[in-house]
Amino acid sequence: MAVIYDRVALIGLGLIASSMAHAMKAKGLAGEIVGYARSAETRAAALEIGFCDRVEPSAAKAVAGADLVVLAVPVGAMGEIAEEIGPHLAPGATVTDVGSVKQAVIAAVAPHMPHGVHFIAGHPIAGTEHSGPHSGFATLFENRWWLLTPEGAEGAAVARLRALCEGFGAKVDEMDAAHHDLVLAVTSHTPHLIAYTMVGVADDLSRVTDSEVINYSAAGFRDFTRIAASDPTMWRDVFLTNKEATLEILGRFTEELFALQRAIRLGDGEHLHAYFTRTRAIRRGIIEAGQDTAAPDFGRVALAAPKGG
Ligand code: NAP
Repeated sequence: MAVIYDRVALIGLGLIASSMAHAMKAKGLAGEIVGYARSAETRAAALEIGFCDRVEPSAAKAVAGADLVVLAVPVGAMGEIAEEIGPHLAPGATVTDVGSVKQAVIAAVAPHMPHGVHFIAGHPIAGTEHSGPHSGFATLFENRWWLLTPEGAEGAAVARLRALCEGFGAKVDEMDAAHHDLVLAVTSHTPHLIAYTMVGVADDLSRVTDSEVINYSAAGFRDFTRIAASDPTMWRDVFLTNKEATLEILGRFTEELFALQRAIRLGDGEHLHAYFTRTRAIRRGIIEAGQDTAAPDFGRVALAAPKGG
């Protein structure tokens, strides 16, 4: 494939950035990849693994001369980084991010983007429960959606970024940031919160039943524990910044849960059966859409029908 950006600066060198770098190298999509992460240890790891050609000790230095800058830090850190790099961005450069929440990132980053720089917020719907520079792999984005929320950015700059994402093997869609945040609250953010809660409940219970919760862990609970192993900083920031949509969906979830609780208490098997038949069809739809493969994906409706049970 042809080079799409001559110099790409990755700010944050964890799962998503390292996967992007591996994919860019595997497919020849970038001339040079420059990296910056907060700790010297992560920067050294990026060089040692070889997914960055060069690392810099500050974000400002890393973005100098880059025609694409990718913000791949936790959502809560985006604004501070944007403020630091703003004056150092090359005219005509594109800045994008990979944050799981879009309205809050746009509000934090856009004010620091100088005139002539194209800011196009984005979110790859792909991930695993692992984090850090060692966790990335080139095929993470294959056949996954990459959502862009361009909010009036120049068409040619959007097309170029789209070509990069498609180069990773991703399918690209554009949407409004508020819509993105609501959809992701349903498909990713609230399911994560439920998984965290369920594992917390089991942990409390395990104090009563010793190690039975671990020893006899069934597939449903194992899926919850995998999701609940996700990075605490990233997920804290997601809930703090996608507050409104998450609370809206949690409210609906609680109503449904109470209805199911009532059906169990009343012995209303018909209600339960009809409900589970409806959710089973959603699972089939996800499989038919090719959105459930080996790599764990935080964008799917994973909890509608946990794997194997
Ligand atoms: P990660 O593996 O935990 O890596 C985060 C990186 O950001 C690390 O290199 C870390 O540096 C750096 N960092 C953290 N705080 C920083 C700060 N204040 N200043 C500078 N660098 C900082 O995270 P990730 O999973 O790649 O997630 C990155 C972004 O992608 C997040 O916004 C997340 O919402 C989004 N996202 C994640 C997933 C997923 O499943 N993981 C999926 C889609 C989108 P050190 O190592 O030096 O601390």
